[in-house]
Amino acid sequence: MKNSFVIAIDGASSTGKSTLAKGLANALSIAHVDSGAMYRGVTLYAQQQHWITETSFDTQALVANLDDIQLMFKGDRLLLNGKDVSDPIRSMSVSEAVSRVAAISEVRVFLVAQQRTIAAHQSVVMDGRDIGTVVFPNADLKIFLTADPKIRAQRRYEELAPLDATLTFEQILDNITQRDHLDSTRADSPLMQATDAIAIVASDYTIEELHAHVLALVKKLIH
Ligand code: C5P
Repeated sequence: MKNSFVIAIDGASSTGKSTLAKGLANALSIAHVDSGAMYRGVTLYAQQQHWITETSFDTQALVANLDDIQLMFKGDRLLLNGKDVSDPIRSMSVSEAVSRVAAISEVRVFLVAQQRTIAAHQSVVMDGRDIGTVVFPNADLKIFLTADPKIRAQRRYEELAPLDATLTFEQILDNITQRDHLDSTRADSPLMQATDAIAIVASDYTIEELHAHVLALVKKLIH
């Protein structure tokens, strides 16, 4: 196997990208980076500063103060300025605002630089929306996951319902549909399949089958 390599896993919300990426990283003993968590971390920070409220979004303040945001992964936990925010970044209020934050080019430049730094001296599996198209156009293996929105919403509902009993399936389906729309129609780095990515319909497989299938591709392509 190569000394250092990058596996890019892209796809729409709740297709199981992070679960797949985490499983692959464990199997290969390499790092996993959930790039969506980084966009969520920036969004949470903007909400804490009241730059994003229910009715307003001060993009200028966010862009002017990006350097105050320090994100760090400790395993799969995300630290925002030293504090573990892995749970709050999954809240519905962050999910509802994150795609607007991710559409800001300055935010993307800020995070993409950090994503590239993480991969500079080690092998990584990184999941997101633009990993194979923009962040690592020369990634050793690119996977593009798709799945029916209702199956994705059900999956997300089962994950989030134990954390928040007020959530409904419809709310989650709405959020997924809206984020997919915003993420795939934005001007900068929209969600799309890289021409050299392998497309996989995640809902055609069980999690175990999907992991085994992709691990076999890794072993075939990265040697
Ligand atoms: O992966 P997850 O659903 O947690 O990502 C949250 C949001 O972050 C996405 O809906 C998208 O707006 C943004 N994102 C992005 N580019 C990435 C990863 C996530 O724009 N590489």
